[in-house]
Amino acid sequence: MEHPENDKEYKGLQVNGGVGSQPTVNPYRKSMPHHRRRQLTAGEYVEGILKGDVSVLGRAVTLVESTADEHQALAQEVIEKCLPYSGKSKRIGITGVPGAGKSTSIDVFGLHVLRQGGKLAVLAIDPSSERTKGSILGDKTRMEKLSQQKDAFIRPSPSAGSLGGVARKTRETIVLCEAAGYDNIFVETVGVGQSETAVHSMVDFFLLIQLAGTGDELQGIKRGIMEMADCIVINKCDGDNVDRAKLAAAQFRNALHLFPPTPSKWVPEVITYSGYYELGIDEVWGMIDRYFDYVKKTGYFETKRNQQAKYWMIETINEHLRNNFYHTPEVRALLEQKEMRVLNNEQSSFTAAKDVLDFYFDHMRAKG
Ligand code: GDP
Repeated sequence: MEHPENDKEYKGLQVNGGVGSQPTVNPYRKSMPHHRRRQLTAGEYVEGILKGDVSVLGRAVTLVESTADEHQALAQEVIEKCLPYSGKSKRIGITGVPGAGKSTSIDVFGLHVLRQGGKLAVLAIDPSSERTKGSILGDKTRMEKLSQQKDAFIRPSPSAGSLGGVARKTRETIVLCEAAGYDNIFVETVGVGQSETAVHSMVDFFLLIQLAGTGDELQGIKRGIMEMADCIVINKCDGDNVDRAKLAAAQFRNALHLFPPTPSKWVPEVITYSGYYELGIDEVWGMIDRYFDYVKKTGYFETKRNQQAKYWMIETINEHLRNNFYHTPEVRALLEQKEMRVLNNEQSSFTAAKDVLDFYFDHMRAKG
């Protein structure tokens, strides 16, 4: 219907046509050349990292996480050059089932560490992140207070690849962070499976966060994970949960008595605390300091680091061999044929495997 205001005879204010909807592209915007950041050289990466430049560190970690061959070659060069400056941090693994309070605790533990004058990197290993397209572990939004601190570097889990691959990237990121002056490294993981073993193989101290009052106190935590723990901390010891937390602590202490002695001979402790209300944080950290004093005195600190270095060398070799093997097109073609033969009962799995391996080694020899 026509507005009566638009009638020629109408004496009042007229309705204006207005303007159509705005173009989606701002016509005043000067066209910008497609902007790509120049790739730094290995030397520039190393220089930035050693200066503690967070943006260069972040880019170097992205490089480490990249699966592109040329990035990997550059990343390895950067890592190699950073190695002599690494190794001086306290590496602490933190695990617990979802909801145990990992992010809340890391937030307050982290602030505690920073108050003592250090720098802290929080990394994560979350093998599920490939499926869910992005890890929630080590996510800045979960560690609100810490993420505002200039001396804290928080990085979610690398997402591409197998658990072994993800873990190796985190281990390499530790080297970069240490070279950048981070003297405390937290590696977070979900306490549900394999990833603990990976974390355990790269940290000096392994902290298991547990909860009380969920019925069976040894809930959902595999025996293997408890065996790896240098300390079990019972979180949420606050309000009307205090008694239950203390009871759970006693039960864990009893359970730990039944375990064989740890390789370090350190007797794992059980401590209650509240991450949310920041109660008992000094006790937890006092215990961690005691552990580091102890293993440095006994020499176990070095022993374990050496074992880990060996482990990662072998792991890296395994991964490269596997990648090389499965990415060789001739091998893949032969594998397909052999799979058919095995499925049709024309050849056994073992002779088929041997044929493919023989072919691979011959192929490599001919290439070399
Ligand atoms: P995550 O999944 O292990 O990272 O656990 P979160 O840190 O996200 O904590 C899970 C829930 O438990 C959140 O609602 C927290 O507020 C709560 N929570 C964490 N720590 C404590 C604590 O010490 N006491 C109490 N009462 N609640 C807590």
